[in-house]
Amino acid sequence: SAAKRVCIIGSGNWGSAIAKIIGNNVLAMPDKFVKEVRMWVFEEMVNERKLTEIINNDHENVKYLPGIKLPENVVAVPDVADAGQDADIFIFVLPHQFVRKVGKALEGKVKKSAVAVTLIKGFDVKEGGGILLISDVIRELLNIPCAVLMGANIANEVAKENYCEATVGCKDKDMGPLLKDMFQADYFRIVVVEDETTVEVCGALKNIVAVGAGFADGLGYGDNTKAAVIRLGLMEMIKFCEVFYPGSNESTFLESCGVADLVTTCYGGRNRRVAEAFAKTGKSIEELEKEMLNGQKLQGPPTAFEVNYMLNMKKMEDRFPLFTAIHRICKNELPVSQFMDCLKNHPEHM
Ligand code: NAD
Ligand code: 13P
Ligand code: CA
Repeated sequence: SAAKRVCIIGSGNWGSAIAKIIGNNVLAMPDKFVKEVRMWVFEEMVNERKLTEIINNDHENVKYLPGIKLPENVVAVPDVADAGQDADIFIFVLPHQFVRKVGKALEGKVKKSAVAVTLIKGFDVKEGGGILLISDVIRELLNIPCAVLMGANIANEVAKENYCEATVGCKDKDMGPLLKDMFQADYFRIVVVEDETTVEVCGALKNIVAVGAGFADGLGYGDNTKAAVIRLGLMEMIKFCEVFYPGSNESTFLESCGVADLVTTCYGGRNRRVAEAFAKTGKSIEELEKEMLNGQKLQGPPTAFEVNYMLNMKKMEDRFPLFTAIHRICKNELPVSQFMDCLKNHPEHM
């Protein structure tokens, strides 16, 4: 079939790193992909120039991924509908709090035959209770299928071409290999599994655990304590899937999207870093996000809120003590010093 046009929706730290991979891959496979890759950029002024102009002239996202050259066939576009015009494959990669707004701008404007893949970690709060997967929001708004890609992928490391793995979750047997071709690089190994819901839920939940890891670090504990946070967090992740998204394949938790992403984020991620500063300084999460991240966005605290919104509604907060304590600490409903009590009193088995 004809070469496919790829569009990237988002251009932050991870969005820019993935744009580098995609831009290079489409050039290497002209029979499969159209050469130009449009990337939607939330327009802003950087050093008195438009960010889209900087990307299109200098081929670098100087604000969100400084020091990394982007392929010249990646074209920054400030209007979402223009970026998405005629696209066959949409890659969604933006902070999850913006997905509805940006998705709505594409509503009714995408090809019927298009497909999407989301790299976004988080949930969407549903009016009247419960939460939605981000992929469900995309499916609902655009009326197209949506696969997921999650993995142990700190963007700055991927951009430097340090070897890592990622998991594509894709139920559709034809779409899986296409996505693998599109994403895989020598330094970015893709494994495709069919269990797309578990892949996505793991990616969202591990950011909550990473906030806990940061609290432990900020309180002055060492690697053994962090290992306990990771272990208990993984147990809650598995339990959460069991209760709310039954039918997981257990092996999915052992893919890059599961235990590997959990580990890397609890050591090297932004959520960990800001949570550590929170425990040390007593400043609010919002304040630290602004101070420390230069426009990048934390996903862990809002995800803890979304998960808590549902657990609270279903009277299940006590079955997920780690997720619950992390949420309360972020909201200043519980002092961070009490985080250790949560670990000490956590059920031995779940
Ligand atoms: P980011 O944290 O760098 O966020 C900044 C982006 O948000 C910028 O592109 C900015 O223009 C945009 N933005 C700011 N305000 C906006 C608004 N009002 N409306 C729309 N966009 C706005 O983003 P990222 O690192 O690319 O993360 C995107 C997703 O990828 C997240 O869900 C994240 O968890 C996930 N992810 C990130 C990494 C990583 O290492 N950065 C790795 C894997 C997955
Ligand atoms: P942070 O948002 O905590 O940096 O995590 C990045 C990530 O998702 C790595 O896969
Ligand atoms: Ca619909």
